[in-house]
Amino acid sequence: MAAQLIDGKVLSQAIRDKIAQETAALLARSGIKPGLAAILVGDDPASHLYVKNKEKACEAVGIYVADYRLPATTAQDELLALIDKVNRDPRIHGILVQLPLPKQIDSKLILNTVSPEKDADGFHPLNIGRLVEGNPLFEACTPKGVIKMIESTGIGIEGKRAVVLGRSNIVGKPVALMLLHRNATVTVCHSKTRDLPAVCREAEILVVAIGKPKFVTGDMVREDAVVVDVGVNRTADGKFVGDVDFEPVSRKASWISPVPGGVGPMTIAMLLQNTLESAQRAAGVKGGH
Ligand code: NAP
Repeated sequence: MAAQLIDGKVLSQAIRDKIAQETAALLARSGIKPGLAAILVGDDPASHLYVKNKEKACEAVGIYVADYRLPATTAQDELLALIDKVNRDPRIHGILVQLPLPKQIDSKLILNTVSPEKDADGFHPLNIGRLVEGNPLFEACTPKGVIKMIESTGIGIEGKRAVVLGRSNIVGKPVALMLLHRNATVTVCHSKTRDLPAVCREAEILVVAIGKPKFVTGDMVREDAVVVDVGVNRTADGKFVGDVDFEPVSRKASWISPVPGGVGPMTIAMLLQNTLESAQRAAGVKGGH
């Protein structure tokens, strides 16, 4: 039987609708409008498109956007000064610094300068440390979206065997920690893992984030597994494909997320959610999440 689709577009729309309601309620109750500072340095067309989509999504749910577009020649000190300004701006509850940054700028230094209390992307070392502890203030958007997608299937994470393919700081490691905190038994695989197909076949939950088109084939997937594909790879003809070979894998899996229309829209929804939750914390109001 073909797998059911974990539809990131439908799921993220439902989340955005709820965020819009909570944003309006927060404004009515405490006069606070959640605000996101979106900082983009340089002319990379893909980055411009990503930021535009994030800003449009914010505006659609009533989140205020402060848009900062800086030239590719921006000096590191100028960017540090801007981050200091938005860190102190009471209208701003979340800060997004679009990566990659031009090479004269030390990205790690910049991300570490963002206030941990406005770190809507969840990349600050303090927030990563809090995630390790199981007490996160902000969770990184893509991993948080992946967990919501798995939860949406209703399969229950507790006690499941989960395999995460990829160990990056922005996807693989945080996803693995979030699954562990939900009581899955987690294995993290990477480029040095021996007999990767055999490890993947043990997975009741398989999360794939390696950046290799159609890498996971049908024979690597256990019958009835839940498969979430984080990969985004552009093919020679300009289309996007995931890290999972969708067609054969969907014949084995019980649930599978598509690319596009899977993790991507959920990542944006989680940025909105993080910004709202930050504004709710600033107002001393508890959200419904
Ligand atoms: P990354 O930093 O390049 O990390 C890739 C990971 O995959 C590494 O841990 C690497 O292992 C592992 N890997 C690479 N080739 C492998 C192989 N043949 N077998 C086993 N493991 C292998 O990538 P990332 O930033 O995590 O992103 C992964 C993918 O997700 C990319 O396609 C990216 O575009 C996509 N992505 C999508 C979103 C979204 O919102 N939809 C967000 C973020 C990322 P080593 O550590 O051993 O090198």
